[in-house]
Amino acid sequence: DVSKLIERLGEKHSLSVSEYETLVENFNEENAEILRKYADKERRAHYGNKIFIRGLIEVSNICKNDCYYCGIRRSNREVDRYRLTADEILECVDTGYGLGFRTIVMQGGEDSAFTDEFLVEVITEVKRRYPEVALTLSLGERSRESYMKLKAAGADRYLLRHETADSLHYSKLHPPELTLSHRMDCIKSLREAGFYVGCGFMVGSPYQTAKTIAKDLKFIEELRPEMCGIGPFISQKDTPFKDMQNGSADFTCYLLSIIRLIHPPVLLPSTTALGTIDSYGREKGILAGANVIMPNLSPLEVRGKYALYDKKLCTGSEAAEGLRELKKRMSAIGFEIVNERGDISTSKRED
Ligand code: SAM
Repeated sequence: DVSKLIERLGEKHSLSVSEYETLVENFNEENAEILRKYADKERRAHYGNKIFIRGLIEVSNICKNDCYYCGIRRSNREVDRYRLTADEILECVDTGYGLGFRTIVMQGGEDSAFTDEFLVEVITEVKRRYPEVALTLSLGERSRESYMKLKAAGADRYLLRHETADSLHYSKLHPPELTLSHRMDCIKSLREAGFYVGCGFMVGSPYQTAKTIAKDLKFIEELRPEMCGIGPFISQKDTPFKDMQNGSADFTCYLLSIIRLIHPPVLLPSTTALGTIDSYGREKGILAGANVIMPNLSPLEVRGKYALYDKKLCTGSEAAEGLRELKKRMSAIGFEIVNERGDISTSKRED
């Protein structure tokens, strides 16, 4: 029965694909509560009540890809496109450092202006100014050589969600030129280049099933990524998926707890999408086992333009300047935001 499966997952951090499927199919409040308790215990064993923050700079909304779900896809003519200059990116980093961020994330569309030379220059300068800051990139699929150059320049981590571990499902979310096997090759190259690697997927994406999620969970179990980003799918009005149903906050939290148990030390964000779909979503994600929050550090003028989905939050406690409010909200549920790099835990605390 399901509570036995949960118990075994908590002990062995591993289930078969069909057992993961059973767990996913049995999403209900009672099982969510059991999972939350186990996940909370694991998270506390590795991170206590600390929450790590990452300053997110959305460096460009120009993208050569045409993912069916994404608001900044190439074919969307309604997007007001922008690209930050090196100086603008560095200014955001300065602001973030001043606010206490010790991890900076540069995320963007696959913009061909971001050549290796350009990125190496920016990375080198960030590291020259702030050697103690961890620098995370999330710039999509690049060549193995490119990843190696970016790593050698000083970048530390790379987020590249796998989106789904089922190739048929992958083909329903992306045009034919984008394939799961290439995505997986990129993740492998990132590992080999020495990055901390982040995978992940959208919860409730169109055509997702309990079986595809079970495959995602098995993939996470096998990869043991340092980071894993999951958030609800939210439709965007100018994409082919504009009429598709959104993912749910509670089911996302259920999966967050499961992922914490699969790989206890994983750095697991309570994502912007979760905070967008539910006004208490950030807190629910943390209570379910997440330990990372990524406030928006992009220049104010461009924030509304990085519209991956409708009504995406970028103000209030979602904004880097809203850190005081975020700190209050986290302390109200018993957690403390810390100004640390927030590397992955390598040892459990003794209770
Ligand atoms: N271009 C890079 C890449 O592909 O990894 C980074 C930027 S991409 C916009 C970041 C993530 O946003 C994607 O991995 C996807 O999971 C998520 N995303 C895109 N559209 C979304 C939507 N409609 N709802 C929720 N998440 C979405």
